[in-house]
Amino acid sequence: MRVLLPRLLPRRWTAVLTAVVLLASGFTAVSASGAESGCRVDYTVNKWTGGYTAQIKVTNLGPALNGWRLNWTYTGDQQVTSAWNASVTQTGSSVVAVGAGWNGTLATGGTADFGLQGTWRSSDPAPGDFSLNGTPCGGDGTPPPTTPPTTPPTTPPPTTPPGEDCGSAVICSDFEDQTGPAPSGAWQFTAPDCQGTGTAAVDTAVAHSGSRSLRVDGGTGYCNHAFVASTTDLSSVGPVMHVRMWVRHTTALPAAHVTFVSLPDSSQAGRSLRVGGQNGALQWNRESDDATLPAQSPVGVALSRPLPTGTWQCLRFAIDTTAPGLDTWLGDEQIPGLHADGVPTQDIDQQWLARTTPPRPTALRLGWESYGTGDDTLWFDDVTVGSAPIGC
Ligand code: CA
Repeated sequence: MRVLLPRLLPRRWTAVLTAVVLLASGFTAVSASGAESGCRVDYTVNKWTGGYTAQIKVTNLGPALNGWRLNWTYTGDQQVTSAWNASVTQTGSSVVAVGAGWNGTLATGGTADFGLQGTWRSSDPAPGDFSLNGTPCGGDGTPPPTTPPTTPPTTPPPTTPPGEDCGSAVICSDFEDQTGPAPSGAWQFTAPDCQGTGTAAVDTAVAHSGSRSLRVDGGTGYCNHAFVASTTDLSSVGPVMHVRMWVRHTTALPAAHVTFVSLPDSSQAGRSLRVGGQNGALQWNRESDDATLPAQSPVGVALSRPLPTGTWQCLRFAIDTTAPGLDTWLGDEQIPGLHADGVPTQDIDQQWLARTTPPRPTALRLGWESYGTGDDTLWFDDVTVGSAPIGC
């Protein structure tokens, strides 16, 4: 077999075709002499004293990859604390990012975007030694290995025993200090606008930790909403506000729009950033413009998750108050449809990013609000809010 390679083809296509010919001839090794570098990385950092976020765009200039990993080394004292659209693990100064399920395939010329947040103390120079599946980016074009990429073990988030170690958190409540059935002290019943049959009470029959939790019986219809608000002012929590709570729902999230966490937001003139559900899956909603995350298209809804019922679920949020950035975890899973970043993604955050002012939540309300149909009995326990990531 003889294949003529057109001279005018870009060199990387020549390399790909050469590889195909060699593979078709039974060779397992590919020759990449003359190939361009295997990848390009755009690393855009937004930093402040002690912290930073980085938006990373990786472009595959080599053969298509079914599963990718990007390695780099920090020369400063950066420490990654969270990431979105990729699983990022740091060991010492070495960092590896592995594509998520929905962006794990990279065609030749294809790109993947992901982001991360971290801390630094003395220096934070941008890394310069990126490699994609072992191929240095901007390097000499060493071909990628022919063995499938290995997925490094993911480090589970730290586990914080409920009620035992809240660190610097400004809200840290297991509700064990509640003495009566009516919320008191740091938690106050509130039913803004109107009140119907919805109720909220301290429950001694169901608890995630200890013997007490917060129980909400929310009814269908807007005025049957019921919320319990923390008295803690959250205005200075950030730059990323981390929220962790354990929730237990009785009824599956309905098709209609409901809310069970409401965060009054000064960037919306006090209107709320809401966590709830629609079309049977978790969603964020912004009261001022009714934007949803994800978009409520079938594709968008499929990228979110239903909320299991009858069991305690660990729900966590990371809300960036300085830049477009919002993340959500259900248990240890970072939910792809509940992620917003600086790059609009159709079916996910395209609508959400139409508003460019970052949120500035000032308070936390837990309860139930239905805008059409949908009622539920639900419980909250081990609720924590702070400026540092919080484990389940
Ligand atoms: Ca408790």
